[in-house]
Amino acid sequence: MNMVLEVENIHTYYGKSHILNGVSLKVGEGELVALLGRNGAGKTTTMRSVMGLTPPREGHVRLFGQDVTGTSASRIASMGVGYVPEGRKIFGHLTVHENLLVARETKGPWTIDTVYKLFPRLHERRTSKGGRLSGGEQEMLAIGRALLLNPKLLILDEPSQGLAPIIVQEVMRTVARMKSEGISVLLVEQNAFLALQLADRAYVLSEGEVAYDGPAAELSADTARMEHLAGVA
Ligand code: ATP
Repeated sequence: MNMVLEVENIHTYYGKSHILNGVSLKVGEGELVALLGRNGAGKTTTMRSVMGLTPPREGHVRLFGQDVTGTSASRIASMGVGYVPEGRKIFGHLTVHENLLVARETKGPWTIDTVYKLFPRLHERRTSKGGRLSGGEQEMLAIGRALLLNPKLLILDEPSQGLAPIIVQEVMRTVARMKSEGISVLLVEQNAFLALQLADRAYVLSEGEVAYDGPAAELSADTARMEHLAGVA
């Protein structure tokens, strides 16, 4: 399998705080990989390291076989990595349609029209202000914006956060749909139970180190271990 993302033994700091202590993980072409862990385990820091927002001081990040350690976030995004940060970061004062218009559209199958086809709800709400959308609609808009970059890899940081359970299921169906569209996905979740239902493989971080690396099904079958490592939301 071709590797889309390879993180090799990274050490990342905030000032003097040593947060990631030798994290390694991989995402293969077409794979959906979950990155789990309790609050403060280092999930967001791992994403920031990959995206070049908080570059690691040691170790390597490879995208599509190319070493990108120390490369800027905008360059990484333009290589085909869509990042949907925690909290969604859509423009509350712009309409749904305007939010999509201001996203950087690149050549490829994803256009505003195909995003509307994927999310008919966004089309219905196209004249509504971003800030007036429900949490689930905002997540779809954030994913829709990332799709306009025509990413080969989509990194989603806690898409279920703050959503009602029924909406969470809908968002998770959307994540599964990304995989069926051929996009590789790194799904960062605190809700291990949900993420493991979708993922091919999983990593669990604990205090800045990888505490589990293996098939998602193996971890979800072992409830006690899952609870111990990741907590069960
Ligand atoms: P959460 O689900 O709470 O976001 P997480 O697994 O994503 O958790 P991180 O946000 O990566 O965890 O945080 C890992 C550790 O780094 C925590 O101990 C946190 O307090 C610390 N940390 C995060 N951001 C900073 C920062 N800007 N400066 C200093 N320490 C930070």
